[in-house]
Amino acid sequence: MKPKTIALVAHDNRKKDLIEWVEFNKETLKRHKLICTGTTGRMVEAALMQNRSKGEPKLDIRLLKSGPLGGDQQLGALICEGEVDVLFFLWDPMQPQPHDVDVKALLRISSLYNIPTATNRSTADFIISSPLFASDYEPKTKSFSEYIGRPIDF
Ligand code: PGA
Repeated sequence: MKPKTIALVAHDNRKKDLIEWVEFNKETLKRHKLICTGTTGRMVEAALMQNRSKGEPKLDIRLLKSGPLGGDQQLGALICEGEVDVLFFLWDPMQPQPHDVDVKALLRISSLYNIPTATNRSTADFIISSPLFASDYEPKTKSFSEYIGRPIDF
């Protein structure tokens, strides 16, 4: 199986949850490429670096900008380019976010491109333990050719 590109993002009140989950799934996650928004990424990196034995392969982790500073949008753009296989996005349903529109945009684009997306920890558990996670799964996407070729009067 080819390594997947896995995106990890958590709002501040959900970071503890995500890091616990990352620690629990450490061995699986280390076999893949990770892309994270800035602050989440630094915490994920620290969690994965803990107790590393010598000779372990280098972590493949890319840090984008912090979410409110454009990181969610960078991630959305990577999804459009087909560069993200799975999104784990623990967003906070109890607190307004300064970048609410970016949060919505990221969730919209992950639906549009039909990438597996977990927005809570139990769904994250289901996705990471699915046999499909351990296979070369290609999500079906629409061509949108009808939309692109729609007649426009001008
Ligand atoms: P952060 O961004 O990882 O930089 O905190 C997460 C987000 O709010 O989208």
